[in-house]
Amino acid sequence: MSELNAAPVTVIGLGPMGRALAAAFLNAGRPTTVWNRTPGKDRDLIGRGAVRAESPEAAVAASPLIVVCVLDYDAVDAIVRRGPVTGALKGRTVVNLTADTPDRARATAAWAAEHGIGYLDGAIMTPTPTIGTPGSVLLYSGPEGLYQEHRPTLEALGGTQTHLGEDIGRAAAYDIALLDIFWTAMAGYAHALAVARAEGITAQELAPFAGGIATILPPLFQESAADVDKGNYVDEINPITSAASSMAHIVHLSEAHGIDASVMRAAEGLARRVIGLGHGTDGPLRITELLNPR
Ligand code: NDP
Repeated sequence: MSELNAAPVTVIGLGPMGRALAAAFLNAGRPTTVWNRTPGKDRDLIGRGAVRAESPEAAVAASPLIVVCVLDYDAVDAIVRRGPVTGALKGRTVVNLTADTPDRARATAAWAAEHGIGYLDGAIMTPTPTIGTPGSVLLYSGPEGLYQEHRPTLEALGGTQTHLGEDIGRAAAYDIALLDIFWTAMAGYAHALAVARAEGITAQELAPFAGGIATILPPLFQESAADVDKGNYVDEINPITSAASSMAHIVHLSEAHGIDASVMRAAEGLARRVIGLGHGTDGPLRITELLNPR
């Protein structure tokens, strides 16, 4: 291992994700220091060779690269925006893998610049078991030079790691957009399970078919992307009039069973507005233009 690859790293925040990150650094042979607000969560990591810091300032002082992964940016602020910690961070680099909004990332970067702290923002797009394996997906944004400098250490986290550019808010913006897909889909799936149960269909019976529905989406994302960027929403195979009718069936059956259909009612409402504006022969992605006209 080269000297740079063996550079020490500190992980602040030992929730499930912080523990996975620290474990991946340890597995890759990086000297790893850890700190968490509530003691005791580092037990396994210490057993595997991590060094326990007694304070966040000691944790920061141990490494040139500090990876922070806590609940949200309020938690980040509570840890790092205190005199001794801020002072200890000067001249070091923080990679903040905590999820929050692009605005918070930009505000944190401005604070870091004021205090002579290198700052990269990041987003983790895959669950804890993927960390350190080929299956992980991590996004970064911020100064390219800083990313390249610390890349050999960050590579311990495995998978696909992408630097999205110098705009510090970009990783958080991708994160929010991608989680928009995920949580809307999960809300839809929870609703589908409730409707299916009302019709005597179990989750285990539905799951294989639910998987089939999910596989329709990735090619659709790819195939529609260039047209969406050009503002071309024509869809002869799946016009929004047909989509609205299908959504109405879901609303009807849900409410017949006394099941809240507000999420699907909202989706149908958007589709009806698009049709009302005269775009009934366009596909459902015309809703993008309704929500945020170019
Ligand atoms: P949580 O989001 O529950 O974060 C827990 C961590 O935040 C603990 O270390 C906790 O410390 C710390 N924390 C919370 N509030 C404060 C505070 N006020 N001051 C100091 N520390 C605080 O768990 P995860 O580890 O799962 O997630 C961490 C980040 O990773 C989140 O932003 C999450 O969105 C993101 N992420 C997580 C994924 C996952 O699969 N878990 C997947 C992708 C991203 P304490 O132990 O003292 O409470």
